[in-house]
Amino acid sequence: MICRVCDSTKLVPAVDLGVQPWANHFLRPEQAGQEPTYPLRVMLCEQCQTAQLDYTVPKETMFAEHTYLSGTTKTLSDHFESTARKVNDRFFANRAGKAMLDIGSNDGTQLKHYKSLGYDILGVEAGRLPAEIANAAGLTTLRAFFNAETAAKIGRKFEIINASGVFFHLEELHSVTDGIRVSLAEDGVFVIQFLYMKRIVENDAFDQIYHEHLLYYNVRTVEKLLQRHGLALFDAELLPIHGGSIIAYATHANKARRTPALEALARAEDHTGANTLPWYAAFSKRIAQRKIENLAYLRQRRAEGKRIWGLGAPVKGNTLLNYYGIGPDLIECLTERNPHRRGLVAPGSHIPVKIEDELGDTAPDVYYVLAWNFKKEILARHSDLIARGVEFYFPVNPKDT
Ligand SMILES: [Zn+2]
Repeated sequence: MICRVCDSTKLVPAVDLGVQPWANHFLRPEQAGQEPTYPLRVMLCEQCQTAQLDYTVPKETMFAEHTYLSGTTKTLSDHFESTARKVNDRFFANRAGKAMLDIGSNDGTQLKHYKSLGYDILGVEAGRLPAEIANAAGLTTLRAFFNAETAAKIGRKFEIINASGVFFHLEELHSVTDGIRVSLAEDGVFVIQFLYMKRIVENDAFDQIYHEHLLYYNVRTVEKLLQRHGLALFDAELLPIHGGSIIAYATHANKARRTPALEALARAEDHTGANTLPWYAAFSKRIAQRKIENLAYLRQRRAEGKRIWGLGAPVKGNTLLNYYGIGPDLIECLTERNPHRRGLVAPGSHIPVKIEDELGDTAPDVYYVLAWNFKKEILARHSDLIARGVEFYFPVNPKDT
């Protein structure tokens, strides 16, 4: 195996989550048990220190039919709005005729906010359903995988290029990054948002590891990728979104001047050893211990005759359920707001999904919260259930950032 970033062959196993089905593929009940499984293992490159999966599920399998919609949660929609405003105010508030490209634009939630700030917008999204939803809302979206070829077809420059999360799912990493460079205006800003691997490890949030996330970046490692393609980071900020995400700003390499905030984040990685093998070995040990504790807790509650439901059916929840080996005997169902998952069962665990609006007044004794990254929103929305004595258990408790 060759490192996805630097082509080195010096990759060592860092975190092993066993074999797991593709976590985004919720199944019809009759498909349960037929889903293929793949190794889910993070390797660390000894040359460039980038953490990455060693097994790639083909991207056509992963992205063509995914049902994740970014507009469905208020926290995310608010985050996209504040990001658009912040980026525009800082860089292009007085620019006329400005354009913005969103890579992996999903249902157009981010595009919408830039459009309202006066940008000529374009989204690129491979998923059929989100692309249809965006276009129907007048948010121009090209249904494609973004790469150098797509960039050549688009044939225009953009003041802002945004890539939230998806940039780090992408298989054709070098082609994508080249495409970004050629599409970025001379004084353009590339806004990259990604789950912060240092924070994933600090939170023991191993459920953020799944097949769509081929790469797990820290500031030091994302810099190495960009450098290889004539781009450079000049600023970065740690945000609480998804339990700890970085919003980083890059531009053409010759234009970049690093901010103290970026330097501070990079130095903190060096101090903690966040890009080294012992850091990952300690993480692996902690999550094995959490497995024992979580199973003991769930079995105890079941022995007491309590009903347990999962709250949320996020993709990452499947990594957690499957690594812990939790099935319908422990968790009866997963409650979810996204109606596209109606009647489906979770891959691997085969726990059925129930749509929140259709539950009426019924509630379990315990909610096992898989969508832990929306903790505040969830606790606020369910204050009535908490008052009725329903217990909310969070398997992951992120630090405040
Ligand atoms: Zn490498």
